[in-house]
Amino acid sequence: MSSSPIENVIIVGTGCAGLTAAIYTARANLNPLVLEGTLPGGQLTTTSEVENFPGFPEGVDGFHLMDSLRKQATKFGTRFEQAAVTAVDFTSMPRKLICGDRTLLAKAVIIATGASPRMTGIPGEKELYGGKGVTTCATCDGAFYRKMEVAVIGGGDSAAEEALFLTRFASKVYLVHRRDSLRASKIMADRATSHPKIEPVWDSVPQEVLGVATGAVTGLRVKHVKTGQDRVLPVKGIFVAIGHVPNTGPFAPPLAVDEGGYFKPSAGSQVKSSIPGVYVAGDCADHVYRQAITAAGMGCQAAIEAERWLAEHEG
Ligand code: NAP
Repeated sequence: MSSSPIENVIIVGTGCAGLTAAIYTARANLNPLVLEGTLPGGQLTTTSEVENFPGFPEGVDGFHLMDSLRKQATKFGTRFEQAAVTAVDFTSMPRKLICGDRTLLAKAVIIATGASPRMTGIPGEKELYGGKGVTTCATCDGAFYRKMEVAVIGGGDSAAEEALFLTRFASKVYLVHRRDSLRASKIMADRATSHPKIEPVWDSVPQEVLGVATGAVTGLRVKHVKTGQDRVLPVKGIFVAIGHVPNTGPFAPPLAVDEGGYFKPSAGSQVKSSIPGVYVAGDCADHVYRQAITAAGMGCQAAIEAERWLAEHEG
């Protein structure tokens, strides 16, 4: 097993949080090393147009935005390496990040590994994901479905929230849930089920996303669990809202996570973990907002905290 030189700061993840942390730590002359995993650029690279990132009145392509953040980070001296962290040892200084047969060493660590939307896995979903009609973010993509019929899959607060948000644009929103009552909080469930544009489709399990041959969603086939009957919903957009899976695996433990598996920051901070010099940022530590701009904000906070911590413990 080989060890690296001791880095000032290693940032794990290249989404909005990780790259913003890189820009800030690089500008602070910390010469950060960023580790990128299997989805460089994070979730935004799977979204076509981002219309709500401040500073882009005409909208910006998700891939282009992430590429710009990366160039900005590189310009100030950030280094990138492809490496998947498989385990950590935060019991002593320097902190150790184990990547297969290599061990990387750092004085400070920023974990910005994001979260992955949980998907149904039904036929057609993967093929038509990202700009072709299947998406996981109404805030990002809802405006593309003006006056169209769409479906939201799920029964939790996210599904109810997505469905309500989509009523601003869509002509009709089918809320497809596998049971006959929503898991969402009562207030959200009541709002969703009483909305004139929302039709709950109870006891129905999605079977197939239709339209693969045409390259765009043309419908969603669902099966009623009690009658066994199939129904095709004539939708152009499908919003999968069945929860997220935060990417915290190799870090928890030792880092604390909440009941949903998200990093739980120390009291009084959004980004400090329970281990000195180790910070968390973005969707791996935020199940509430989950926006590109809030992830970037957390990346900035983590970078400033890391910089201060290094200054205090240097020498
Ligand atoms: P969630 O509460 O875990 O709900 C996931 C939903 O997806 C459940 O209704 C579940 O069905 C369904 N589901 C799971 N796997 C499925 C599958 N393979 N096929 C079809 N349906 C499937 O997730 P969430 O809605 O993202 O919420 C996560 C947390 O964030 C919750 O604590 C929630 O309260 C919170 N949140 C709060 C707000 C708010 O307060 N404004 C907004 C969003 C999220 P079952 O019900 O049958 O299990």
